[in-house]
Amino acid sequence: MVAIIVHGGAGTIRKEERIPRVMNGVREAVMAGWRELRRGSALDAVEEAVKSLEDNPIFNAGTGSVLTLDGRVEMDAAVMRGKSLEAGAVAGIWGVKNPISVARKVMEKTDHVLLGGEGAIKFARLMGFEEYDPITEERRRQWEELRRKLIEKGEAGHWKKLNELIKEYPEVLRSTVGAVAFDGEEVVAGTSTGGVFLKMFGRIGDTPLIGAGTYADEFAGASATGIGEVMIRLVLAKSAADFVHLGLDAPRASEAAIGLATKYFGENVAGIIMIDRNGNVGFAKNTKHMSVAYMKDGMPEPYTGI
Ligand code: ASP
Repeated sequence: MVAIIVHGGAGTIRKEERIPRVMNGVREAVMAGWRELRRGSALDAVEEAVKSLEDNPIFNAGTGSVLTLDGRVEMDAAVMRGKSLEAGAVAGIWGVKNPISVARKVMEKTDHVLLGGEGAIKFARLMGFEEYDPITEERRRQWEELRRKLIEKGEAGHWKKLNELIKEYPEVLRSTVGAVAFDGEEVVAGTSTGGVFLKMFGRIGDTPLIGAGTYADEFAGASATGIGEVMIRLVLAKSAADFVHLGLDAPRASEAAIGLATKYFGENVAGIIMIDRNGNVGFAKNTKHMSVAYMKDGMPEPYTGI
């Protein structure tokens, strides 16, 4: 049994006309991952699927990442292998096209798990990743608009009340991406994001933190999305894998993990995708939307949903 699932972020998509583009994006990504998975490696499948989402400007990862309060891009990404517990991550990186591939290099070429900021960039250049500007015109426009609204309301330092802000401006939380795959041998999970719009410079979310936004072990793999500060405090991806360890399958473990998020932080904060070591696929959210696509042995077409 082999399987792969991807997500294109939890939140609210206000403009209905965006939905078909988002669904196409997750569908393309799951198929890119699926092609790799057929060749045998969950790790390659996760990297390919996440790269496809990073390269699609509609998602908030790689090209199309959202901007910080001061108009920069600081991206986070992580990848983890369930069998060996090897993991690699980058936080607050800029000037590269595919943060997930840099995270994989951290895992494979260093003894470290997480590199941040300037150091992550220096490492990326050493590994041959070329200079690249991931900022799109559309994101810059959205940044200007949002920033103006916040400044007018005297709320530029919004990070103290991100929860309330997202209720008023759902566009702050945008389409982080992730993938989990099982190749019959091991589960691998990966996540990539530009974070949340207008985040404070230097803010690091859950995505690159092993156990919070990204996790895989011998029982299951998980990639989370939503308000990073929630996932960090609940160590959500690891908690989800622990639910599998305790006997739940991936669908039930996903629901249990999101149940935890709802219990402590209310609705509209989180989403998660998972695969367990039996190849069961699970996903859950307490936001209005979370685009997902998955593909398993025996399915003629991927499932897609939002
Ligand atoms: N979890 C991401 C972060 O807080 C955002 C998201 O999932 O949309 O950085």
